[in-house]
Amino acid sequence: MGEITRDLLYRLPKTDLHCHLDGSMRLRTILDLAEQYKIRLPAEHEDDLRRLIVMKDGCSSLVDYLRVFDVTLLVLQTDEALERAAFELAEDAAAENVRYLEVRFSPILHTNSLLPFEKIYESVIAGLTRAEKRYRIKTGLLICAMRNFPAEQSHMARRIHDRFYTFSDAELAQLLAVHTAKVTTKLSQKYPTIVGFDIAGPEDGYPAKDFYEAFQEIINGHLSITVHAGEAYGPDSIEQAVKYCHAHRIGHGTRLIEAKDPSRLRTLYRYFKDKRIPLEICVTSNVQTGSVPSIEAHPLKVYLEDKLRCTICTDNRLVSDTTVTDEYFRICQAFKLSKEDLYKLIIYGFESTFLPYEEREAILREVEPILQRELQVGSGAAGAIPRT
Ligand SMILES: [Zn+2]
Repeated sequence: MGEITRDLLYRLPKTDLHCHLDGSMRLRTILDLAEQYKIRLPAEHEDDLRRLIVMKDGCSSLVDYLRVFDVTLLVLQTDEALERAAFELAEDAAAENVRYLEVRFSPILHTNSLLPFEKIYESVIAGLTRAEKRYRIKTGLLICAMRNFPAEQSHMARRIHDRFYTFSDAELAQLLAVHTAKVTTKLSQKYPTIVGFDIAGPEDGYPAKDFYEAFQEIINGHLSITVHAGEAYGPDSIEQAVKYCHAHRIGHGTRLIEAKDPSRLRTLYRYFKDKRIPLEICVTSNVQTGSVPSIEAHPLKVYLEDKLRCTICTDNRLVSDTTVTDEYFRICQAFKLSKEDLYKLIIYGFESTFLPYEEREAILREVEPILQRELQVGSGAAGAIPRT
C-alpha cells in the first residue's frame, strides 16, 4: 500500500466542520476591503499584515490568538463584505475538495455599521449559496454567541453597555446570547443553511452553563449544537457543554483526555466514546494557542486508539495558516496514520455533519466509493465504524 502523500490528501473528498469566517479570509481581500471602505488597518502592506495576522510561530494563549480577529472584523461590517468573505471561503474549501463545509461566525461582531441583524445572517448565507451554485460543495452555517462582550468590540455592544450600565460584561454577553439564539431559531425556519449554534470566545472565567437560557432557545428550535470547550479549560468545561448546553459536538475537546481514567467505570471520556459525540479537532490551532506543546503531543492519537469520534478541522484558515489538506498531512505525518485510519477519520467527518439525515446519507453514499478506491481500503473498513 502506497504512502499518504499531500497530493492524495488534496484529492480526497473531505469535510471541515469547524471553520470561522472572520479567521479564514484571504489576506488580499482584507486589504481590498480596507481600501474600498477607507479603513485604516494596523499594517498597510501585505507582508506586514501577514506578520500581524498569521500565527506562524504561535502565541502565548487563546486570548492572544483571539486579538487578531479585531483586525479582520474591521473590514467585515457591510453586507457586501460578508457576502464576499463567505463566498471566497467556500471557494477556497471547494478548491481542495472539501465537499461539505460548516462555516461559523458571530453576527453580533458585525454590527458596527448598524447593519440590520437579520441582514448580517442573510449576507453570509448569500455568499455560501453563490459558492454552492458554482462549485461542488455543500455548506452549512453555525451561529456563534460570544462568551464575553467588551464594550469596545462593536457598536451594538457600546450601545447596550450604555443603556444597561449596571450590567457586568458577563451579564451582557448572556443577554446578547439569548437575543442571538432567538434570531437564529427564527431564521432557521426560513434558511436551511443555518444548521446550528455555538458559543465562542475566552473559556476561562466564562463558563458555558451561564449561557443555559440561550441554549434552551436553540433546543426549543430543534437546531443542532456545538460548543467550544476543553481548549483553554479542562474537562469541567466539556462536561458543562454536554450537561447544560446539550452539545451534539464539541469544538476542540483537547482536554477531554484529562477525564480518561481506566480505573473508573463511568467517566466523561467513556461517555463521549459511547454516545459517539464528535470532537472537532484543530491541531495546528491548538499548538498555536498553547493548548498542546506540539502536534505530536496532541491527544488525537489516543482518541483514535480509543475509537472516539473525531473530525479534522481548520479552525481558522488565515490566522492558523492552514487548509484541511494541511491538517490531514500534519497528523498523518505526526501519528504515522494508516490509510484505514485516514479513511475512518474522513468518514467520521461526513457522519458528524449537522445536515438533515437524508442529505448526510446521500453525501456518504457519494464519497464512500471514492475514498475506498483512492485509499485502497475495502468496504470492510466502513463496517468497523459505528453508524449513527
Ligand atoms: Zn474555533
